[in-house]
Amino acid sequence: MKRILTISMVLSMIGSFSAQPEINCDTVYAEPAESEYILPFGPEKTYTVTQSNCHPTGGHFLTFAYDFNTLMGDTIVACRSGIVVFANDQYADTDWTSGHENNVFIEHPDGTRIRYTHLMQGGVLVSQNQMVEQGQPIGLSGNSGNTGGFPHLHLSAFQDGSSYNRQNTIPINFCNTNDPVNDQNLLIEGQSYTAFDKNITAIEQAEKEGFIKVFPNPVRNFLNVKIVTPDYSPNQIQLVNTDGKLVFSSNIGHESREIKISVSELPKGLYFLVFKCSNETIWKKVLIL
Ligand SMILES: [Zn+2]
Repeated sequence: MKRILTISMVLSMIGSFSAQPEINCDTVYAEPAESEYILPFGPEKTYTVTQSNCHPTGGHFLTFAYDFNTLMGDTIVACRSGIVVFANDQYADTDWTSGHENNVFIEHPDGTRIRYTHLMQGGVLVSQNQMVEQGQPIGLSGNSGNTGGFPHLHLSAFQDGSSYNRQNTIPINFCNTNDPVNDQNLLIEGQSYTAFDKNITAIEQAEKEGFIKVFPNPVRNFLNVKIVTPDYSPNQIQLVNTDGKLVFSSNIGHESREIKISVSELPKGLYFLVFKCSNETIWKKVLIL
């Protein structure tokens, strides 16, 4: 009896697998500019796709997934806003056993999910049921699970939460890079991709139109921010580094239209000045010398 039950269970499992067809690796997808996803790393960062969708062998066989050559401790950001449905980071970065990956899974408003995989032990920056915004740091890259011994980020999107089989993976591309894609509009294996901040052009436009003034830039000691147009009312100004870490934040009232930010104590490098309004967020690159 026990044996019969086992066989029928196996048969029903095979049945459920074959019910889901293999993915079509040849389909052409929408233009990257129309994508709702950003690259999983911060602006101005560049990484190479070491394995792309439907690689003929290994873990990407008949699977939509990207491997990026991120190093230990590199910051991984959310490609799209959503809710964290699962996160774990208990496995060591020397534990290359399949199934021992540290992951973050994020579900988006349309029910699709992204799995961010091989994160560092103790390197998950979010927790289950937390809402995350696009671009928010969610974890640190690592070498856990079936990595072949090389730290990297495995990124895979799924149709829904029903299964994490390869048949349920979906292709994605990214709106915040100008680097080439293939004939299907998907990322190319061996190609490097640099992320830009998709909102930067908005602030440059605002500056050109005279709503705001940011000076001097590059800056050594004090960064002056002046809001010129009375009806432009950001309620918060922030300064973040290229890993998305907040280094300065100030609320803005209608009376204080000018802010002086002391930057002499900050490490030199590229930062982003962020203007948050109720309905939009705009960004500007600032170089601290
Ligand atoms: Zn992979």
